[in-house]
Amino acid sequence: MKKTSLSFEFFPPKTEGGIANLRETRQKLAVFKPEFFSVTFGAGGSTRDRTMDTVFEIQDEGYQAAPHISCISSSKAEIVELLKAYQEKDIKRLVVLRGDVPSGEVSTGDFKYAVDLVAFIRQETGDWFHIEVAAYPEFHPEARSAADDIDNLKRKVDTGADSAITQYFYNVDAYFQFLESCYKAGIRVPIVPGIMPIYNYTQLARFSGICGAEIPRWLRLRLEAYGDDLTSLRAFGTDVMSELCEKLLLAGVPNFHFYTLNQAATITTIINDAGLMRKK
Ligand code: FAD
Repeated sequence: MKKTSLSFEFFPPKTEGGIANLRETRQKLAVFKPEFFSVTFGAGGSTRDRTMDTVFEIQDEGYQAAPHISCISSSKAEIVELLKAYQEKDIKRLVVLRGDVPSGEVSTGDFKYAVDLVAFIRQETGDWFHIEVAAYPEFHPEARSAADDIDNLKRKVDTGADSAITQYFYNVDAYFQFLESCYKAGIRVPIVPGIMPIYNYTQLARFSGICGAEIPRWLRLRLEAYGDDLTSLRAFGTDVMSELCEKLLLAGVPNFHFYTLNQAATITTIINDAGLMRKK
């Protein structure tokens, strides 16, 4: 049986305190020997320097760092510069995205969709990078249809993506159905589940509304009932996510990507409770 492999996603911190916290988080999560730590990239390059600094620090610590790189509002010249900087630092993996279109924005820059950026990166750098792209088990909110969204993933893979990481989901069936549909569509790369711990209901509900991830009614009602009692909400949310991961593991899922929000404790509990690192 294949060994379970984990990856952890961070956002680039803004303050000295945030940087120190992330170092500590990284140390705690490093015990799981993750395949890589990825670092998000703000729309339109708004976090460009902070993303780079965080990525370089991770790489200097001896871990594999995977910068996210989004193309909306970017020019080809800006992307070439980024790619060169990452190659010079021996970065070998990228998470390639379109990014969210800023409201009121007229120009999308030199790239319209993530697939255009995948094609450009392959054209500029050949096989240097392992390219991850985004996938949506409950479908991207702008997709014209479910079938169209799967076609989009297929195009990204056919253009050069090596694997995909999903948007988070709380409905395991949606993920398995999605895997099946992707397989039928001829997609043969790993589609790694993105796992989002539950820290705060209000934020989660707002973000889920935007990104199209459904919070099932039973879960929403349970979470709403905790009100301001964050400690109980987190304890319940951690149990829910441990069970979700355990179900995925038992079904044979070999890779897990965690949206950490730069925190280690909850994720450590989920990994241990779900037995993700247990020898099979
Ligand atoms: P695309 O694959 O380009 O798809 C976008 C939409 O366009 C989809 O609805 C697709 O079906 C549709 N589409 C594609 N091609 C066509 C076409 N030819 N005609 C019509 N419709 C089409 N955002 C950030 O800003 N920074 C990050 O670091 C970041 N990290 C992420 C990490 C993961 C794992 C995930 C899942 C998402 C992340 N996002 C990030 C969010 C992502 O940028 C948004 O979800 C964005 O809206 C879509 O990006 P994409 O790469 O999936 O776009």
